[in-house]
Amino acid sequence: MDRIGVLTSGGDAPGMNACIRAVTRAAIAKGYEVVGFLKGYNGLLYNKYMSLSARDVSDIIHCGGTILGTARCLEFKEWDNVVKGKENCDSLFLKGLVVIGGDGSFRGALDLTKAGLPCIGVPGTIDNDIACTDYTIGYDTAMNTAMEMADKLRDTIQSHDRCSVVEVMGNKAGWIALNVGTAVGAMAIITMERDFNLDEIVGKMKAMQATGKHHFMVVVSEGVCNIEGITADEIAAKLAETTGVEARATNLGHVQRGGNPTLRDRVSATQMGYHAVNLLDDGISRRVVGERGGFVIDYDIEEALKMTKPFDMNLYHIADEISL
Ligand code: ADP
Repeated sequence: MDRIGVLTSGGDAPGMNACIRAVTRAAIAKGYEVVGFLKGYNGLLYNKYMSLSARDVSDIIHCGGTILGTARCLEFKEWDNVVKGKENCDSLFLKGLVVIGGDGSFRGALDLTKAGLPCIGVPGTIDNDIACTDYTIGYDTAMNTAMEMADKLRDTIQSHDRCSVVEVMGNKAGWIALNVGTAVGAMAIITMERDFNLDEIVGKMKAMQATGKHHFMVVVSEGVCNIEGITADEIAAKLAETTGVEARATNLGHVQRGGNPTLRDRVSATQMGYHAVNLLDDGISRRVVGERGGFVIDYDIEEALKMTKPFDMNLYHIADEISL
């Protein structure tokens, strides 16, 4: 019997399990057996896998993480290892492979198609930094988690008349920061997509103080801290020193990668996983599945990897203009 393989690769994201479930059940419904490779491309390379029945994926739709595990596998960037992975798939009679992950994982999938294995990529990352799709699996849950944490911080900064500088994830992209900052009514949102000037933020804070505001929240993306090299602590220190408001930095960290996926993540993961299996069943390969304007679509992997994603400057301006 033909088999379909599935793996999760790169950083984990809530909703990956819902996608594994959808891929498994869609494939079984079409008459395939399903193989789940463990720890990303490591499983493919070292023949570590488990067969997945419809029952094996029961009770995982609501769980964060990934039952298959995920990892980075640097060896997979070497062509000889891609060929070895393809040979392992051949020995398992694999008709095709669904790769749930980010851009790096899609590069691995593209290499596998060049070695002759049909592959489909499904975007799974909390960062929403994949250009060919409006939306990635895990993004909604991560934003909601960060929003809830920032809401809790608001309670305490309000009681103490403090300023909170909240660092959120997103890799180099500011999508989580922009949306969470908007959702929590941050005074300032700092991301790499837009130049920022701390003196301007200080000026804004002082103007707000003059109208009677005593507590403040700033949301900053991890890209700003990791790449531009200004830490949330340094931002907090500068704001405290120039305004006299006690300021604290909080890095929300990996808590944003966990937790039960939201409805949106579960539904998107289900639709995209189902679509990926349909493509393989139709004999179509080398595609990345995505969402555009609420519809599930797919693009050639190479074309998808070349795309760029415009940042939502409009939302940025709205959030900025109404933080008075
Ligand atoms: P993400 O998929 O979240 O972007 P990574 O960039 O770490 O995460 O990529 C995940 C995995 O995909 C890597 O560990 C590696 O196994 C594989 N990979 C990444 N880039 C390539 C590449 N250029 N060629 C082949 N495989 C790659």
